[in-house]
Amino acid sequence: MVSPTIIVHGGAGDWPKSKQAAGLSGVRQAATRGFRLLQQGESSIQAVEAAVLEMEDNPVFNAGSGSTLNLVGRVEADAGIMDGKTRRGAGVALLRRTKNPVSLARLVMGRTDHVLLAGKSAERLGEAFGLPKVNLRLPERVYQWKQAKRRLAKGFHGNLSRNLKLIRSKGQSILGDTVGALAIDQNGDFAAADSTGGVSLKLPGRIGDSPILGAGLYADNRIGAATATGVGEIAMRFVVSKSACDAMEGLTAQQAASQTVKRVTKLAGRGLGIVTLDRKARYGVAHNTRHLCWASLTKKRGLVSQIHG
Ligand code: ASP
Repeated sequence: MVSPTIIVHGGAGDWPKSKQAAGLSGVRQAATRGFRLLQQGESSIQAVEAAVLEMEDNPVFNAGSGSTLNLVGRVEADAGIMDGKTRRGAGVALLRRTKNPVSLARLVMGRTDHVLLAGKSAERLGEAFGLPKVNLRLPERVYQWKQAKRRLAKGFHGNLSRNLKLIRSKGQSILGDTVGALAIDQNGDFAAADSTGGVSLKLPGRIGDSPILGAGLYADNRIGAATATGVGEIAMRFVVSKSACDAMEGLTAQQAASQTVKRVTKLAGRGLGIVTLDRKARYGVAHNTRHLCWASLTKKRGLVSQIHG
């Protein structure tokens, strides 16, 4: 029997001092919730869904309720989930009202023949299965959106420099705190899940890496699991979660995470974080952003959490 392990993250980017305690407590709670299920003999899929759901319901994170807003001030949330045993997975995108995007992704994975569903039609499927709907647009995010727009007007563009040019020529950043979870259960089955409001001030209709298998997340029982955070465009261009999993064929989880981030930094610059989990239930964490907030829970090492600087 494998010793169950879970690792969760609350996003790469800047974690200001004022938010660090809440971020750490949020990832600890999420890891604890997922680990409890693993200890009760539940599957890794159950565990990663529950861990991500916990963070979607915690407004400190940019996922579910608390999602960051796009350029026109709307929420368009994305999420993904993947089962390493069946290598089935699914993503959902551009959600405005589904309370827990990760559960909708699980529904698409388990009940449909598709891998990616977006927008109103995806939300309708959730409704048909009784998934709760809420207003994901919280007042605190509206305040942050106004500040970000002010910074944009002054020429600060973070990783959205081409958007800024486009906005200026056609008439009108920062990273968020996306969440993710990886787990291995007592049967040795892997799972990965993630959820995000995306990058703030993104163009309406923009879909990031989080619902894209291979980019935002990947799980394969033969190798391990990985999930990414940061600039989704980088994660998609370099298919970073699948790359990190492939690297674990010969490397430990930590070596694979570090190598992936190092390679991508050379090719695309900063803006990426990744967590990994290998067949020996060892985890890895690497990032080239200022911070990455994460927590892991194993029987041997207990609860470990950190905001990596
Ligand atoms: N990867 C997410 C996206 O680009 C954002 C994040 O991780 O903060 O949608």
